Amino acid sequence: MDNSELFPRDHIKTCYLGKNVNGYIDSSEFGDPLGKISHTDRLIQVLVKNYVDKGGTINFGESVSSVSKSIEKVEVKTNKGNTYVAKLLVLATGSRGFEIQSSLGFEIPDSYMGIYCHMFESESQIESNFDFDYLFHINPNISENGPFFFNVGKGRVCTGYLGNKGESGSELVNKLDRILRNYKYIQPNLEGLKWDKSKFITGKISKHPISRFSQDRTLILGEAAGLVTAFFYEGLLSGLISAELASETINPLLDKESSFSHTELANYDKELKYKLLNKYYKNGEACEFIFYDASPSAINKIWDTYTKLIQENKKLRKQIWEAYRKHDIENYDLSRDKWAGERLFEKLPALSKLSLGPKFLKALIKF
Ligand SMILES: Cc1cc2nc3c(=O)[nH]c(=O)nc-3n(C[C@H](O)[C@H](O)[C@H](O)COP(=O)(O)OP(=O)(O)OC[C@H]3O[C@@H](n4cnc5c(N)ncnc54)[C@H](O)[C@@H]3O)c2cc1C
Repeated sequence: MDNSELFPRDHIKTCYLGKNVNGYIDSSEFGDPLGKISHTDRLIQVLVKNYVDKGGTINFGESVSSVSKSIEKVEVKTNKGNTYVAKLLVLATGSRGFEIQSSLGFEIPDSYMGIYCHMFESESQIESNFDFDYLFHINPNISENGPFFFNVGKGRVCTGYLGNKGESGSELVNKLDRILRNYKYIQPNLEGLKWDKSKFITGKISKHPISRFSQDRTLILGEAAGLVTAFFYEGLLSGLISAELASETINPLLDKESSFSHTELANYDKELKYKLLNKYYKNGEACEFIFYDASPSAINKIWDTYTKLIQENKKLRKQIWEAYRKHDIENYDLSRDKWAGERLFEKLPALSKLSLGPKFLKALIKF
């Protein structure tokens, strides 16, 4: 985290952009920064190098085309005609290996579409355009299922949005370009910045965890298993946690020459459910249920009320600051989310309280 090439700046301030009022979480109000802004592409290169330096092998440009299993082994065939044999296969294919995972009997998580791009400019221009490090915004015209964001690095800014199902890549590209050109709330941030439509990256992003994470001689990790939080679309932390839990299950089995049967691997499912899904994922489900809605006017009303609540309520700001900083996932405190949901409901205009009351009540009972 001290490497400024990989983590170029502290994450001091988040802006929850509203149409009337912005809610800011400014860490200087409470103490230490919210975290670090990462240049994740560079980070991945370093992690890949570490792995290779420690004796790992990575074959880039070679994709697995089929997998077969027997009682003794797993066999993987690739597009280059190679066959690899293993005791255990760990699938971490994100949203790009659904055919393989279903051929092995794993479910497929729900898939949405996302887009992002980098805009490059001088550090001084970026400093003068942004008074925050990260921006999160919900607008049903952008997406009914996900946020628009800015992630402000050093000399570059990442932006995009997540969430709609079934939009094509070119629709997403044109829409992001229109948003960047015209969306009035973000124009001050884009002063002097340029972007190249041909470099926009689109892709599936999957969420809503599948129900089973192991079969005989196979485990599934990360986004392939739907381990992405339903509201923020964060998959990195869950990917790391699932990898750690998998290794905790696998290591003792390696020592005793296991056959890696599903009963021996079931500990991975148990731990994943207990440590990740049982509490922490309830936050994502509840926020998804409250903030993303079939009715665009409900989304607008709830989001605008929320940004105002952040601006006015110091206790909420402090709890968000703490949630950013504390990753005690296993003991995630759901009562704070309930408290925040109640404050949000209280703050809705009277008419919205009537129409949205049943939704909030259902959320309270459901989570
Ligand atoms: C626009 C956008 C913004 C995001 N922002 C954030 C964020 O701010 N914070 C956060 O936590 N998460 C974020 N995410 C989500 C996060 O990036 C992913 O959930 C995470 O990278 C998933 O990790 P993974 O290792 O499970 O899968 P991936 O990173 O998708 O890796 C899967 C790998 O498997 C390879 N593969 C697939 N099929 C095959 C095959 N048949 N043979 C060989 N190789 C194969 C792929 O090439 C790929 O390298 C974002 C996602 C998007 C799209």
